[in-house]
Amino acid sequence: MSKVLIIEDEKNLASFLQLELMHEGYEVEIQYNGRAGLDAALELSDVDIILLDLMLPELNGLEVARRIRQVKDTPIIMMTARDSVIDRVSGLDHGADDYVVKPFAIEEMLARLRSLLRRSSVKQETIEDSDNRISYRDIFVEKDNHIVRRDDQIIVLTKREYELLLSLIENINVVQGREDLLRKVWGYDSDTETNVVDVYIRYLRNKLDVPGEDSYIQTVRGTGYVMRR
Ligand code: CA
Repeated sequence: MSKVLIIEDEKNLASFLQLELMHEGYEVEIQYNGRAGLDAALELSDVDIILLDLMLPELNGLEVARRIRQVKDTPIIMMTARDSVIDRVSGLDHGADDYVVKPFAIEEMLARLRSLLRRSSVKQETIEDSDNRISYRDIFVEKDNHIVRRDDQIIVLTKREYELLLSLIENINVVQGREDLLRKVWGYDSDTETNVVDVYIRYLRNKLDVPGEDSYIQTVRGTGYVMRR
């Protein structure tokens, strides 16, 4: 059973989330201000995911996320009332893994939650021989200097191609939709055409794939992309 820590000062919303999550079989703990939420996030060792409000008394959500991230990599979903690109991007910059804009449908929150929990359990199984090196088949990514290699051969990628590859390779076996990839790699969604993702996947394949062999990146028709082990 996964445990969810909710940090939210709107008591009605917190209770609603708690009921829905418990109904789905999650264990839930609630804190009503940023300070208490941060303490709980740092002290409790069994929290699997955190739902964090942006506007909180005592310590705002961005600061809470930043301080949690200094110590732990527990997945964080930021809940923001303000639907602006700046808030989303700064939330992600401060260590949140995803965000939902209030008011949100509970189904959307549950889907994001499941996706993040799945991703974080897969991440632990991905081969990382140090924090900075990650590999998939014969592709090696050195994260500290942004170098991608196949054996001794360096594959030169643009910044977006690199981030797209990293996003796929860090989520082995997790199918990611175009919107997910767009949000993670480009940092925004809605107005940008999701087919920019298809274009960059094509660039990546051109650079990575070996003629006559299966592509490193699989297309899941109607859904998105995945690298499978
Ligand atoms: Ca609030």
